Amino acid sequence: MAKSYQANELNGIIKIDESKCKGCDTCKSFCPADAIEGAYGANHRINDARCLQCGQCLVNCPFGAIEDTVDVVDQVIEKLQDKNTTVVATVAPAVRVALGEEFGMEPGKLITEQMYGALKAAGFKIMDVNFAADNTILEEGTELIHKIQKYVLNQPAEGELGPLPQFTSCCPAWVRYMELYHPDLRQHLSSAKSPMGMAWKARGRSLPQRQITGRDRAVRQRIRVWLSY
Ligand code: SF4
Ligand code: SF4
Repeated sequence: MAKSYQANELNGIIKIDESKCKGCDTCKSFCPADAIEGAYGANHRINDARCLQCGQCLVNCPFGAIEDTVDVVDQVIEKLQDKNTTVVATVAPAVRVALGEEFGMEPGKLITEQMYGALKAAGFKIMDVNFAADNTILEEGTELIHKIQKYVLNQPAEGELGPLPQFTSCCPAWVRYMELYHPDLRQHLSSAKSPMGMAWKARGRSLPQRQITGRDRAVRQRIRVWLSY
């Protein structure tokens, strides 16, 4: 069983399909956690207890042998076809600069308008996480200012503050890396929620009430990029 620090944390969502694996070792060279086992030429497998679920092996396997086992595409399509359901795409900031490459565009090309158009055409309502990302920056920045006031300027500060330096807490893979491999540094993590976490909290206030209660049922589908490097 993989080690978990958070309640309801999902583990083991990245898997190698041994029937497709060629044992080429490419995934090992991209794994930042030494979580992939297997000799060169033999089937490889992921050690869930070490895995960060960052997805680097998945996007770099030349044989498509690695998969994300949490696939909700069919469920989302079903919800989009249900006229009594409002489906909200909660779009993380990085998606608009990562998605274009999947459609043959230059890596990093900004395709915000095309992405919005495609989501609307598919039937989604859109909740852009850029707003929540700004909130995360404000929270993290305020926390950092308070730490500087306390530790550098020796001024009084309110609340419990971890030590400097302060590390971002935005990326789940990064947080898991720290929890598993450098638990002694956890107090350096910012206490701010990630942009997606902020957006999830803000959803009730930002969505029209009729989309949440009454005859309509709101189903919120998060769209996010799992690349963390
Ligand atoms: S990169 Fe893909 S094919 Fe190569 S060893 Fe890893 S899982 Fe197997
Ligand atoms: S998901 Fe990341 S940490 Fe896990 S095996 Fe793949 S590259 Fe390694």
